[in-house]
Amino acid sequence: MITRFAPSPTGPLHLGHALSAICAHDMARAAGGRFLLRIEDIDRQRSKREWEEAILHDLAWLGLTWDAPPMRQSDRMAAYDAALGDLWDRDLLYPCVCSRRDIVEALGAPQEGVEPVHGPDGPIYPGTCHPVSWAARGSRDGHHLRLSVRNVLRLLDGNAPPTFQETGLPGTGPVVTPWADYATTIGDIVLARRDFGTSYHLSVVLDDAAQGVTHVVRGVDLFDATRIHVLLQRLLGLPTPTYHHHALMRDGQGKRLAKRDDARSIASYRAAGWTPEALRDHLTRSLVAPD
Ligand code: GLU
Repeated sequence: MITRFAPSPTGPLHLGHALSAICAHDMARAAGGRFLLRIEDIDRQRSKREWEEAILHDLAWLGLTWDAPPMRQSDRMAAYDAALGDLWDRDLLYPCVCSRRDIVEALGAPQEGVEPVHGPDGPIYPGTCHPVSWAARGSRDGHHLRLSVRNVLRLLDGNAPPTFQETGLPGTGPVVTPWADYATTIGDIVLARRDFGTSYHLSVVLDDAAQGVTHVVRGVDLFDATRIHVLLQRLLGLPTPTYHHHALMRDGQGKRLAKRDDARSIASYRAAGWTPEALRDHLTRSLVAPD
């Protein structure tokens, strides 16, 4: 078994992230497997080396050990670009010039009680930039690149639908996404942002494969995105790991903890005199306590 923890170094390690790290770490250790780290720093504006160092320090303080030097996404741009080139050459990507506002406007004023359908990345893209003629698709450079779900379906519909094994909170068993759902509930997602040169979805799929991850352990907030990841694995010929989505940390009022709530950082608990053992106990207990 190989698990991983993949923090974005854009702020301090907080309770919710630490819980993911502990779950992934303990699962690998219990199985005699390996636990790896990956620094998800494709957002070069917000990622800072200081945060990366602070996160590693906090993980070590919590008693976690990892079995290889962390992979850093900013070192992997060539791999992301190669995969984008492959998808582009297979007519599965197209350039998009729409702003967020263009998309909202194209979707039109919501009629009474009818909101536009949202996928894991927000409102489903209305297809404004989808090429009519692929010969006149334009250039890959300098634009967002979107996945053409229409062309994906043309290529793969008729094959067994994308499936993954879930072992966490949503229940143990296979999760199947019918092909038609990709058009109706996900749409043409961005696989390369103009400013990043890649996207969370593309990078996470390529990196999990490159690190040989067999079990992806992460918060249940990413459960919906997993359908995208399994599709990308299919398109790129990569294996699909098992997924284990765990419950999210809640505050005293039962509200989900905000990602950027510095008061919930591991450093602030340490400063308040918590021991690593007490904090780990507090975190793992939150998994069994009902919402
Ligand atoms: N970097 C992501 C985060 O900070 C984790 C993504 C994942 O585990 O797939 O939420």
